[in-house]
Amino acid sequence: MHYISTRGQAPAASFADIVLEGLAPDGGLYLPQEYPQLSLAQLQRMKPLAYADLAFEVLRPLVAPMPESVLRDMLRSTYTAETFGSEQIIRLQPLQGGLCLLGVSQGPTLAFKDMAMQWLGRLFEHALAASGEQLNILGATSGDTGSAAEYAMRGRRGVRVFMLSPFGRMSPFQTAQMYSLDEPNIHNIAVQDVFDACQDLVKAVSADLEFKRRWRIGTINSINWARIAAQVVYYFAGYLRSVRTPGEALDVTVPSGNFGNILAAHVARAMGLPLRRLVLATNENDVLDEFLRTGVYRPRSTEQTRQTSSPSMDISKASNFERFVFDMLGRDAARTRQLFEQDLSAAGSFDLSREAAFARMRDGMVSGSSDHALRLRTIREVWEGSGVIIDPHTADGVAVGRRHVEPGVPMLVVETALPAKFDATIREAIGRAAERPPAARDLESRAQHFVVMPPDVQALKAYIAEHA
Ligand SMILES: *Cc1c(COP(=O)(O)O)cnc(C)c1O
Repeated sequence: MHYISTRGQAPAASFADIVLEGLAPDGGLYLPQEYPQLSLAQLQRMKPLAYADLAFEVLRPLVAPMPESVLRDMLRSTYTAETFGSEQIIRLQPLQGGLCLLGVSQGPTLAFKDMAMQWLGRLFEHALAASGEQLNILGATSGDTGSAAEYAMRGRRGVRVFMLSPFGRMSPFQTAQMYSLDEPNIHNIAVQDVFDACQDLVKAVSADLEFKRRWRIGTINSINWARIAAQVVYYFAGYLRSVRTPGEALDVTVPSGNFGNILAAHVARAMGLPLRRLVLATNENDVLDEFLRTGVYRPRSTEQTRQTSSPSMDISKASNFERFVFDMLGRDAARTRQLFEQDLSAAGSFDLSREAAFARMRDGMVSGSSDHALRLRTIREVWEGSGVIIDPHTADGVAVGRRHVEPGVPMLVVETALPAKFDATIREAIGRAAERPPAARDLESRAQHFVVMPPDVQALKAYIAEHA
């Protein structure tokens, strides 16, 4: 499989070439040159497979020429009952009104990002062993991504993680989840400032190319293609466990922020999975809903981005969106480059409402947004109606999914996190807390391991140089 850039000016690359990369050298994002196709007969044969073996069938063509035995072993040691709580790995929970939760948050940090990140840990270790290199992952987190990355990279040979977080500004649960890790290759750096300052520090270090090369600084953000690929798998698994016979229609709603999760659903459909409609759900930060309704893509500034009770969807611009636009425009790289390089910087937005491609796309993709009051009401209604507690992000999904469900077509709603992570909102909605998985029960009472640092680039560089 060859990978190409959405901006058309980077040389084709292999999966192994791009696995540790973020942006392509031309500023675009990598996608497979063409999507592998799985037939209904193949889907039928895949139906009884265990999750890891299903993952093997989906990922094999995307990672070729990686040796098949390497891939299979890696997947079998990633998707285990020990890490994901059950042999099924994912969990389906029917709700009232024709909806069903697709539970992909059974991993160690109780959010869907574990599904990809756990594989990435093994993939990075494999790639680094092959080249004999070391990698220092530098990142900033306000919660979910950082902990998923740390739990995936803990103990991995050749990888160190330096994760910046805003000191005293994460929830007690999130703080304890990250800081309770006690691993020589994981460094929690609590910055005495807000999240944006943490991100600025990462940018400042990465902009020093000499330092970056010398210390082999890498990232593991949501544009990493391997993360998307791993997420494609659970759409296949969710579909095959929901239908009687492959070929039946199914809709899916995805609570969205950076457009990674729903891009994976789009890729699954492009590979032949019979998903009928994709429903994109946002919170008050409705950049993507606005695009799907009007054809205008208008990223917001940090100041225009609201802090909500579904915080992992509080984004101002969707980092994976360019991949979707590229496909929508029939993979016209020159046009994609024009939109993202010129139009966005010149006008701050672009408008595709008059494109035939936009109208066609909308046959298969719709959207909606939610807000705090609706999240609370949805959490309460689902609890009272179905006896299930859902997290605030999933509540955005259920609220929007309900508007689009049609008789005779089952609707999966992706459960992007477990409610135990968001105590305050759950209590506000139903007056009680959600139960925690056993492994997370004593989290806050564990010893915490972190260093406190002022928002100072030199101090950060010195720390990395000392510990890399
Ligand atoms: C990351 C995240 C999202 C958003 O997913 P994208 O892939 O960025 O669209 C939604 N909900 C939760 C709980 C998350 O952690």
